[in-house]
Amino acid sequence: MHPEGSAVEWLDKPIITFGLGNAVVTLAAGTIIFWFFPALGWAAVDFGFSSVRGDGGGGSPAAVFFYSALFGSLAWVGQLIHEFGHALAFRFYGQRVEEIHLGARNWTVGTAPSLRSTMIKCLVAGPAVHIVYGVVLLLIGTVAGGNILLLAVGSVVIFSALVGFFPLVPGSDGAMIRDLRRDDR
Ligand SMILES: [Zn+2]
Repeated sequence: MHPEGSAVEWLDKPIITFGLGNAVVTLAAGTIIFWFFPALGWAAVDFGFSSVRGDGGGGSPAAVFFYSALFGSLAWVGQLIHEFGHALAFRFYGQRVEEIHLGARNWTVGTAPSLRSTMIKCLVAGPAVHIVYGVVLLLIGTVAGGNILLLAVGSVVIFSALVGFFPLVPGSDGAMIRDLRRDDR
């Protein structure tokens, strides 16, 4: 249910639109949510750690801003990879990708495969590559001597990918997969 003029509706109004192959890519103001909240989370984590260490702060305000921006950007790239995961799966199964949208809600629209099981694979592909990206961040963080920023952003990325798998939110990948599987019975 998305009442006209609701905040989410407004945040999903395209600001930047460009073509990519046959698809239209639309970027809306709401996509900043996926940057802002992780960045804010990182600023809090950084503040928390520096309080524990008692060193009076994790560096200058400029450094905190820089690492927050880096954290938010890495989390946002996960949203991008998620939607491109759907798009590449559509292409892999010979479908046409019509729209890739990043906003308060993210979605990829493609022509519907004839088989429901193929559509389910296209839906799973997004969260699947999203999780892989998170695991790669965790691995790099581990190799880099337990880099707390990479370990934290990797965890946030995996968590947000898993949320998409559960049918909590109407219109989420999890909810659509549940409905398709229900139709099969
Ligand atoms: Zn998705």
